[in-house]
Amino acid sequence: MKPTIALVGRPNVGKSTLFNRLTKTRDALVADYPGLTRDRHYGHGRVGDRPYLVVDTGGFEPVVDDGIMHEMARQTLQAIDEADAIIFIVDGRSGLTPQDKIIAQRLRQTQRPVYVAVNKVEGMTRSVVTAEFFELGLGDPGAISASHGEGVREMINEVLELF
Ligand code: GDP
Ligand code: MG
Repeated sequence: MKPTIALVGRPNVGKSTLFNRLTKTRDALVADYPGLTRDRHYGHGRVGDRPYLVVDTGGFEPVVDDGIMHEMARQTLQAIDEADAIIFIVDGRSGLTPQDKIIAQRLRQTQRPVYVAVNKVEGMTRSVVTAEFFELGLGDPGAISASHGEGVREMINEVLELF
């Protein structure tokens, strides 16, 4: 049975870009505007001889206030429940946002292991870009660039060690 890894995060943080890199496809829709990936999307990846299944989530529709939680309940919570581990993607360029904190609050309640991936930090220093994300309370964040591939292999190795 392949382990399933769910990619979770607010819109536009790079979930679909990371999905494409992990599955070596261009299946997921990548866009400059939030909310494009409406449905959960599955793909196969492999590191060495270890196969895994990746789930891209639409994350959150660009709706306000309590709608955010509703959308999380409907889409992302199901992906979280089905996953063996979760990669929680945040944007190292825009920094920590209120939406990230709402997602983190929910993720701290799951029994599943969660890896915080600080994305879009190509060429930047890990310790600097990850510092502010410790307060999410989800452990030691990793630094990645989904589009450039930096830190991705290290991340997936760490994630596969989580279960
Ligand atoms: P999603 O909404 O979370 O699925 O995000 P997407 O994968 O659609 O990406 C949103 C935007 O961020 C697109 O313009 C991507 O090209 C860009 N992006 C994704 N990963 C990176 C990265 O590692 N570095 C930079 N600079 N941009 C990225
Ligand atoms: Mg997407």
